[in-house]
Amino acid sequence: MSVLVVGSMAYDSVITPRDERDQALGGSAMFFSAAASFFTGVDLVAVVGEDFEIKELDFLKKRGVNLDGLALEKGETFRWKGRYLDDMNERETIYTHLNVFEHFKPSLPEHYRDNRFIFLANINPDLQYNVLEQVRDPQFVAMDTMNFWITGTPEELKQTLSKVDALIINDSEVRLLSDEQNIFIGARKIQQMGPRILIIKRGEYGATLIHGNSYFNCPAFPVEQLFDPTGAGDTFAGGLLGYLARTDKVDNENLRRAVVYATALASFCVEAFSADRLKELTTKEIQNRSEEIYHMTRFELKNAWEKA
Ligand code: AMP
Repeated sequence: MSVLVVGSMAYDSVITPRDERDQALGGSAMFFSAAASFFTGVDLVAVVGEDFEIKELDFLKKRGVNLDGLALEKGETFRWKGRYLDDMNERETIYTHLNVFEHFKPSLPEHYRDNRFIFLANINPDLQYNVLEQVRDPQFVAMDTMNFWITGTPEELKQTLSKVDALIINDSEVRLLSDEQNIFIGARKIQQMGPRILIIKRGEYGATLIHGNSYFNCPAFPVEQLFDPTGAGDTFAGGLLGYLARTDKVDNENLRRAVVYATALASFCVEAFSADRLKELTTKEIQNRSEEIYHMTRFELKNAWEKA
């Protein structure tokens, strides 16, 4: 089962406390596809400008990412610049230049429209909605968003939210979107806006899955060589949707497993700038790290008051 993704294809400039990189390959759809392609085929929808070096996507093509839905338009590619603070859980955006995304209205290739697993990666919610409308019979739709859209286009965002099964966002975005400081109360409010499943990313503290009334927490894999967190969230989403599509099941147990694989994937992304680490990653490494997370979290519960 393949996955359809719509999102940004970008040139990112990133400053971290250790180093900086200018105009590196980035974008939510790029990171997502790099991760999901370890599990399944990906049909990608995005737009780039005339300045884009299409050869930079050869690694995605080799891994089964279909680029028929990647439009090339007059103008410049989307650009984003951000800076991480000493606590790398915190980042500030220096600029967001939508460029060719400003007026992008994709028409999905015919063979994209039968996808059943859909990911609306972080991009203009109108564009997310427009793509979803073109899919014939979606089975599982997940989306991401960020403060830029929560404050900039709240009505459009609510419309898209009302159509999805799952929302994958970080804890500060839960607070902003729900206008509620307690993220569990905030999550309930967001569930009433549409998605029954919420996956809250909490940086180095891991991720929380809220599925109806059930909770599952997965810690982050302890990464000592944290290099660049950019794209970790999209990589997480790629791992999650990739795993669900490969196994073609969206029940609670499988969602929990998907969160663990997603966590493993994201932990590799942050070990290098851009998609550098994801390019050389192997499925064996992903499997090994997922097993390490399993061993980090498993325990045998014994009743403290019962005799052994
Ligand atoms: P993440 O670190 O997972 O939040 O993803 C960062 C990626 O999102 C970068 O590669 C950026 O190019 C991209 N990005 C940043 N701001 C936006 C935005 N407003 N819309 C779409 N993509 C964005």
